[in-house]
Amino acid sequence: MNDDFFLRQTFQLAREGMTTNQGGPFGSLVVRDGEIVGRGYNQVTSTNDPTAHAEVVAIRDACRNLGTFQLEGCTLYASCEPCPMCLGAIYWARPSRIVYGAFHSDAAGAGFDDQFIYEELDKPREDRKIPMQQRLREEANAVFQEWVALEKRIPY
Ligand SMILES: [Zn+2]
Repeated sequence: MNDDFFLRQTFQLAREGMTTNQGGPFGSLVVRDGEIVGRGYNQVTSTNDPTAHAEVVAIRDACRNLGTFQLEGCTLYASCEPCPMCLGAIYWARPSRIVYGAFHSDAAGAGFDDQFIYEELDKPREDRKIPMQQRLREEANAVFQEWVALEKRIPY
């Protein structure tokens, strides 16, 4: 079993999701030591969850199955290059590597264009489409100080 074997399964998951669940055509797997430990397809419309991209669903499934919040030693497979949200989730989950099929520019051709998010990230905060307002910095920082002083915290 190699990367192409697992990657082709993400294409099948994408097809399964779009035909049985009317979801977007995206699939993802998490594999550890040659064993599938998490799987997912896009469930945004079927669960009314805009964060239910295939990769996020697969990460949640893998973490549930493995009883952990970190996926070190795992490979994340995705039928398409992860969007910025999924890439963020992947970095937080810390798999060892990512293997993907289509480029995100290919997805744009099918109506799934995440280019605007990349562009938003490059803009200064005040120029972004969704207004962001910063307030109460000191009070917000007090929570961090409480966290640092907390004896029972689980660092991650
Ligand atoms: Zn995504």
